[in-house]
Amino acid sequence: MSKIAYYLQEHLVGEVTDNLEVRRYFSTDGSILQMVPTTVAYPKNEDDVRKTARFSWQLAERGKILPLTARGGGSNTSGAAIGGGIMLIFPAHMNQVLAFDPKQQTVTLEPGISYQNLQQMLQSHGWFLPPCPPSLAYSTLGGGVASNYLGQKSLKYGATGHYVKQLRVVLSNGEVIEVGPLNKRQLSHKMGLTNFEGQIYRQLDKLIEESSEILAAAAKQVKSPRSVSGYNLHDIKDRGSFNLAPLLVGSQGSLGIITEATLSIAPYPEPAELVLISLDDINELKEILPKILDLRPSVFDFINKAAMDTVTSINLSQLAGVLARPEAAIHLFIEFDDFKEADQKKAVKKLGKIVDKAGAWAEVFDPENDHDKFWKIRQSVSTILTGTKGQSRAVPVAEDISVPLEKFVDFLSRAEEVYSELDLNAAAWGQAGDGMVRMRPMLNLAELGDRQKLFNIAGKLYAAVIEMGGSITASAGDGRVRAPYIQKQYGEDFYNLMLKVKKIFDPYGLLNPGVKTASLKDVKSLLRDEYKSSHYEHLAGS
Ligand SMILES: Cc1cc2nc3c(=O)[nH]c(=O)nc-3n(C[C@H](O)[C@H](O)[C@H](O)COP(=O)(O)OP(=O)(O)OC[C@H]3O[C@@H](n4cnc5c(N)ncnc54)[C@H](O)[C@@H]3O)c2cc1C
Repeated sequence: MSKIAYYLQEHLVGEVTDNLEVRRYFSTDGSILQMVPTTVAYPKNEDDVRKTARFSWQLAERGKILPLTARGGGSNTSGAAIGGGIMLIFPAHMNQVLAFDPKQQTVTLEPGISYQNLQQMLQSHGWFLPPCPPSLAYSTLGGGVASNYLGQKSLKYGATGHYVKQLRVVLSNGEVIEVGPLNKRQLSHKMGLTNFEGQIYRQLDKLIEESSEILAAAAKQVKSPRSVSGYNLHDIKDRGSFNLAPLLVGSQGSLGIITEATLSIAPYPEPAELVLISLDDINELKEILPKILDLRPSVFDFINKAAMDTVTSINLSQLAGVLARPEAAIHLFIEFDDFKEADQKKAVKKLGKIVDKAGAWAEVFDPENDHDKFWKIRQSVSTILTGTKGQSRAVPVAEDISVPLEKFVDFLSRAEEVYSELDLNAAAWGQAGDGMVRMRPMLNLAELGDRQKLFNIAGKLYAAVIEMGGSITASAGDGRVRAPYIQKQYGEDFYNLMLKVKKIFDPYGLLNPGVKTASLKDVKSLLRDEYKSSHYEHLAGS
């Protein structure tokens, strides 16, 4: 055992290892990058996390940088759940429900709890946490909060950040803080503290005061419905309150390590009305998209023809007999989950009129009997995520983008051009109601030509997104993969502001370094030469 692993094992209750096989296992996440950690630790409690951070800080004071990466299920696709130093694996022990308060509609959790365990517990009492990954069994609450997870019903319920009320966070020097909304008096108390926490509040308050023009300019830059790109500096000061939680949510473990989270929950809706709409011409979507949104659906997803064709090319029989219009240009998946059945029926009726007027085709699925058929079509995309074509696999690059809704169809057309210039199938799917598009080209990362295609696609699609006023990162965080494009999106001033925020929280650069700041050169040097999705091969849907 290395000296570091030995020292940590002596001081932590949880297990520590530097076994090469274990380190290799944790060297990849759901992204195209790879970094082998030096040490893997499974914290048993907050004190283990605090001691590890303190240890790393003390080494840094003596000139040795040993970074820390927090990790949940490792399903992150932006290269943020990997690191070259100590990896803290939360699902092993810190996975409990600490409090459940139906009266206050809150739940307090350890970060390593899986969404599956959480939702099962909540649903048995008639509640749920609306933003929830398809990879229930696998993704953790900590990973979801740190990524500001969106979820399939985000259109109606919003992202994880809307639900976070309070966090306990270990800072880079090992101090533990609680964050949540502070009034003026509470803020002035925090700013008077002589420790690292006090310093953070003082410096951040001053920085935000001085940067109002930069923040206003950055806010104008992104007009799409969804964005988790950069650091959220806009919501720290809100109607007289000062709150670090919105900043830490979505910071991907680069500003602090979450050891406890209190979230609000919502009443669990009954099975919902589901409608599949198929359009022969993608341009028809321009007209009906805003009309459908007016009906306030809870889900408004899409899959294009190229994606359906890719599914069928991988598994010939998968969609046979379930997809009535395989030749349609685009399929839309609409769900209404209003509590009153009559309201759901009313919405479906209005939707029918919109569809008829547009000359499109629609099928209503009965919530009691037809759910499986609907979701079989909707989740057929998982075949693309896990399928292979020779040595090629669908790799996550330039996905999770969001564009303003009026640009949605134009973006799909632009993406199709980019893909066909490279002789690739432009399979696309995502959340149309959120302007969100996901695309994964089938590439073999061992081939130099395919690696070049990957960066070619990223460069062109991100340029198009930025030009259209969209966001390069609508979900899953910027990570390292999208970091090189943040400055292009927000401009140099905002990017420098982000670097200052990072310095305030993490002066030695110990917490997930490179996440949100990696250069293109860094990304190229970390690229895997084989993309395997073994960490989440069992996922259904996206
Ligand atoms: C098929 C597929 C679909 C996906 N769809 C979406 C989607 O729609 N929206 C979306 O947002 N993501 C999506 N993802 C990405 C990912 O699954 C989610 O972001 C998920 O919430 C990550 O959870 P995890 O436990 O796997 O976190 P990890 O991958 O382990 O970590 C994610 C990030 O959180 C940080 N982190 C983890 N725990 C902590 C902690 N305790 N304190 C501080 N930081 C921490 C990590 O350092 C990392 O930066 C998808 C992934 C796949 C493979």
